[in-house]
Amino acid sequence: MSAAELNSEFEALQSQYQALAERNLALDLTRGKPGTEQVALSDALDGILEGDYTAANGTDVRNYGGIDGLAEAKALFSTVLGTPDNEIVIGGNSSLTLMYTVVDFALSVGLRGPESAWGNSDEVKFLCPVPGYDRHFAICEHLGIEMIPVPMDENGPLMDEVEKRVSADPAIKGIWCVPRFSNPTGCVYSDDTIERLAKLGNIAGDDFIVMYDNAYAVHTINAAAPALANLREYCVKHGTESSVFQFGSTSKVTFAGAGVAFMSSSAANLSAFKEHLGFQSIGPDKVNQLRHVKLLQSAAGIAAHMEKHAELLRPRFAAVLATLESELGGTGMGEWLSPEGGYFISFNTRPGLAREVVKLAADIGVALTPAGATYPYGNDPEDSNIRLAPSYPSLEDVQATAEAFVLCVKLASIRQALR
Ligand code: PMP
Repeated sequence: MSAAELNSEFEALQSQYQALAERNLALDLTRGKPGTEQVALSDALDGILEGDYTAANGTDVRNYGGIDGLAEAKALFSTVLGTPDNEIVIGGNSSLTLMYTVVDFALSVGLRGPESAWGNSDEVKFLCPVPGYDRHFAICEHLGIEMIPVPMDENGPLMDEVEKRVSADPAIKGIWCVPRFSNPTGCVYSDDTIERLAKLGNIAGDDFIVMYDNAYAVHTINAAAPALANLREYCVKHGTESSVFQFGSTSKVTFAGAGVAFMSSSAANLSAFKEHLGFQSIGPDKVNQLRHVKLLQSAAGIAAHMEKHAELLRPRFAAVLATLESELGGTGMGEWLSPEGGYFISFNTRPGLAREVVKLAADIGVALTPAGATYPYGNDPEDSNIRLAPSYPSLEDVQATAEAFVLCVKLASIRQALR
């Protein structure tokens, strides 16, 4: 565009922006919460036991005990992680709590006895594929673990760099991974990436762990979504079962906040971890575990239930993606991927504009995830990544937010061109 064209485009956008400001919008696309209709899909949980509190082995689930969970819950949720049902622990309502507990345990108690505690060393570091999940990074920051960003592409973390860093620096004790419909890019790790993650245990020290957060394992939006290779099978092949912890939950299957979380690892790791758990709790909420088994029943039951979620999510994702494509496609003002599942659309502005776009949106009542949140220490060196989470608002609000968002991107881009 010529300078005159840029100026007139800027004025046109500025007046559209002003018009939006006058509408006093109150829109929010910040967190990946399931919508109200989504959580309502599991309302049958309430009362589903109909007074029968007895587990398959005769346990009265109303009482204390069973630190590692009910056998029928293990059988059900091991299908989500693709692990045997004797290599899983069923926890409380939050996989994030399990992740925090594992990191804290490895740091202060030691996965393989006191000598192995990471905290014995002055420096403890984690690899953090970016963009990634802010709450993973918050765990590291809270526990004083230094974070090293590693770039990702459509196949997952760049494994050449991961392997190079892990072999060069023994202070690196772990890596965060969200392997299917990654938060926020939506990518699905390739088979090669997963095999190489499984092999890290042979490159790194004995106390290195892959924190494999499979939060979106069954959260397909489009039937054509790629499947995920089975990490554990690669671990068995390479003899590295103890270098991996896998996590999942039903937070975005049933009730976020009142679901069931689970974790898988080698028998040795799980037995150390269970002992550690025993200091925190006499046992998890087995009533809720049994309710979940009754509602979801089997892998096929979970898939059928997830299809109902997909029906609600599909139009919301389609609305955002169609607006991005029609308004920004081919303009060079942004890049994004079309996820086949999960909860997010990851958008990259031109370098240096993410904060400005988020601020422009906030000023007209559109809340977006803070720029930088997808990077360790909130520091996106390119200042370009913005995470969009379209699940919670109504379809109408998602559409309105997407329109306001593209306007802010255009305005910020044209301002940059005029500077
Ligand atoms: N992991 C990832 C990658 C997530 O996106 C989320 C929710 N946003 C969680 C974990 C939280 O899981 P939970 O509710 O089981 O603690």
